[in-house]
Amino acid sequence: VRILVDLDGVIWRGSHIIPGVKDVFNLLSKDGVEVHFFTNNSYLTQRQLLIKLKVAGVKATKINVHSSAVVAGQFLKGVKKAYVIGGPGIKEALRINKIEISDKDPVQAVVVGLDLKLSYQKLTKATYFINNGAFFVATNSDPAYPLENNQLAPGAGAIVAALKTATGQAPVVLGKPHRPTISFLKKIGHFDLVIGDRLSTDFKLAQALNSKFVLVLSGVTDKKEIALKGLGKKFIVIKSVKNLPSTLRNIS
Ligand SMILES: [Mg+2]
Repeated sequence: VRILVDLDGVIWRGSHIIPGVKDVFNLLSKDGVEVHFFTNNSYLTQRQLLIKLKVAGVKATKINVHSSAVVAGQFLKGVKKAYVIGGPGIKEALRINKIEISDKDPVQAVVVGLDLKLSYQKLTKATYFINNGAFFVATNSDPAYPLENNQLAPGAGAIVAALKTATGQAPVVLGKPHRPTISFLKKIGHFDLVIGDRLSTDFKLAQALNSKFVLVLSGVTDKKEIALKGLGKKFIVIKSVKNLPSTLRNIS
């Protein structure tokens, strides 16, 4: 059995680890379940994600921890220079693929993800490059992501929307549930199950991968939204990953 697990809203909310995570993933690995993690959040590097997972008590390696930043690096291979609005995750992935990060003309691509140090100046630069023909790429378009205090913070999608408005151009989006991520994941193999907290990304991805879907209520989606969309029978809804082992037993 191979499963794909989302991070924000499933494993953690900001710095808060969802209770039960450690025991659940130890149990799954004992049962021989092959667990992969994929986050649309491009902010952290793979190493930073591994450290955060380790703190949460989850054993993982670079082979099974993936993000939209990793997809961005592979997708843009061959590009010489790119301007980045984003965090260390994107920057590292571009460098690994020999793409120089620059804020001076000419750049061939503008890569946009979550940037905790976003400024008006950065938006202005990105607008300039896109208007001058640079390829506009977004790691993801998630509107918001969950924080520890039950609040939501603006996601990459909110930053992308500002640039869309300013330039009148739409980016190529790389993360879940978009093509580049689908082909990235298909190379790993078939996933029996996808677990996530967002319908527009995680559920859509599960459909594209022909995988079963489990929605957790520990993130951005609440029961009302599922009922409203009449999706109650299309997937299993659980409170949090804590309930995953029993759910897996019932499915298989
Ligand atoms: Mg999530």
